Amino acid sequence: MTEYGRTLTLDALRSVLDDIRSAVLQGIALPGVDGILGAAATKLQNWVAPTLIGVINASGVIVHTNLGRAPLSAAALEAAQSVSTGYSNLEYDLDKGQRGSRLSHAGVLLTRLTGAEDALVVNNNAAAVLLALTALAQRRRVLIARSQLVEIGGGFRVPDVMKQSGAKLVEIGATNRVHLRDYQQAMDEQPIKLVMRAHRSNFAMIGFIAEPSLAEIVNVAHSVEVPVLDDLGSGTLIDTAKYGLLHEPTIQESLADGADLVCFSGDKLLGGPQAGIIVGRSDLMTKLKKHPLARAVRADKLALAALSATLLHYLKDEAESEIPVWRMISASPTDVQQRAQGWAAHLGFGSVISGESTVGGGSLPGESLPTYLLTIDHPHPDTLMKHLRALPIPVIGRIQDGKAVFDPRTVLPEQENIVLQALQDNL
Ligand SMILES: *Cc1c(COP(=O)(O)O)cnc(C)c1O
Repeated sequence: MTEYGRTLTLDALRSVLDDIRSAVLQGIALPGVDGILGAAATKLQNWVAPTLIGVINASGVIVHTNLGRAPLSAAALEAAQSVSTGYSNLEYDLDKGQRGSRLSHAGVLLTRLTGAEDALVVNNNAAAVLLALTALAQRRRVLIARSQLVEIGGGFRVPDVMKQSGAKLVEIGATNRVHLRDYQQAMDEQPIKLVMRAHRSNFAMIGFIAEPSLAEIVNVAHSVEVPVLDDLGSGTLIDTAKYGLLHEPTIQESLADGADLVCFSGDKLLGGPQAGIIVGRSDLMTKLKKHPLARAVRADKLALAALSATLLHYLKDEAESEIPVWRMISASPTDVQQRAQGWAAHLGFGSVISGESTVGGGSLPGESLPTYLLTIDHPHPDTLMKHLRALPIPVIGRIQDGKAVFDPRTVLPEQENIVLQALQDNL
């Protein structure tokens, strides 16, 4: 037990002795020395077992928020490792030999990729929105359509973040319909500091609906010199329509439509580490960078390194082959079918059925990619799932029509053997 250190070992032994004392008082027999040491060893193992561990995602949800969103590319991982195992030039200008800015690192890549004047990376997109609203519109009025007062998940609501920033919310339009004249009228009636648009990341509206385009909103706002902040949520640099999915608005389109600031997540469709990214007009960005909140929500060096490496994949036109999220989205149904059939052949049980994978992560609600699933007939699929979740490397599948199913699309190729072994051992 020496590997646990003196303090922890002592704590475990004391705790076991306490347990034994209360057990003995209730008439339970005194254990021997081996029993006591065994109980202490078990306690120690539990105490030091990591709670945050890697799992295998066989659920078919590509950007699964509960499973840590985007897996990193090999290059992103390597970059994070190389700046974190030693020192780095995080805030050091190697050329000048003096203090530099951490913002310079991913910033150049972001402006090159998007054409924006300036860029800023913070902790996550919620922080990006909070920072933009606080720095630009604290105690001032911010216009937003009622159809965009969305809840993202985990209780994160756009109106709450807006209130938190100290901005005064001016809601316009109805839940299902907002018109350009609503924007016009609100801006005529009162001084507006900022117009915000939030992407409806996780639900779709159908039926009697109307909403002006971003370009139209920008046009009206700019005519009275009011800037527009576009919260894209996921944000993507690649057109999802290429893969038979609905078109998710791209960052480049938002900028082309005239949005003054565009913010999005690093770990949704971008496929990088957790980060919030803001791109846009340099005069506004300067205000954001100078605001005290920017320091409180800044990105750390691991995220900056991994993000830069991820962005480089886009710059080098290799996103679809190098970024796991895009490799999964771009995998053809035939690719997935072959993998599923390979699994079934290897196992000697289970069958392959067609099904659907989803993109997830607050993007493309209701949209799915045709896929092939390994399905396993088990009398108690819940129990099977539970066993698979209890493994040292948990395997997360899903239950569909009372059957356990596993989608190869979201399983990294190097993890396939672990899935197969897990299924073999637990059936
Ligand atoms: C996901 C999302 C956010 C929050 O982004 P995080 O990176 O999770 O903080 C904010 N706004 C929209 C529209 C989103 O979809």
